[in-house]
Amino acid sequence: MDCVFCRIVSGNIKPEIISESTHFLVFLDANPITEGHTIICSKRHVSTFMELNDDEAKDLGLLQRDISKKLKEKLDCDITIANSSGKWASQSIDHFHVHIIPRKEGDRLWDGEKSKVVLDRSSDFERLKPSGIELQSIANKIRGE
Ligand SMILES: [Zn+2]
Repeated sequence: MDCVFCRIVSGNIKPEIISESTHFLVFLDANPITEGHTIICSKRHVSTFMELNDDEAKDLGLLQRDISKKLKEKLDCDITIANSSGKWASQSIDHFHVHIIPRKEGDRLWDGEKSKVVLDRSSDFERLKPSGIELQSIANKIRGE
């Protein structure tokens, strides 16, 4: 099976890792929506949120809170948390993951009236393309290095 997140979990692809828990790996999205856009990905290959077992669901709840707090502290931001589970929810990678997206007033997801999030990669919303060094720099900041 050619699953990009399984390859990350197994260490074949090496993103900027922020942290990990018993059941999840936390790393920077290589094509972030905003600076510091972080992915929480299950170590077990399951597709959707609904397939997590009780231990994974509890672990995830605490992890989402802790990562959100860390991003707020290090980047002085607010947070959008997003998961798409299933085809009609525009899930693009068939391996469970949650987006933790740093938000600031006037950021590129801000439409002037209210904030909005566009997660579908197939949309015409352009993702950022930071260099490896830029990703490493923001990861260091979040990790507190
Ligand atoms: Zn997978």
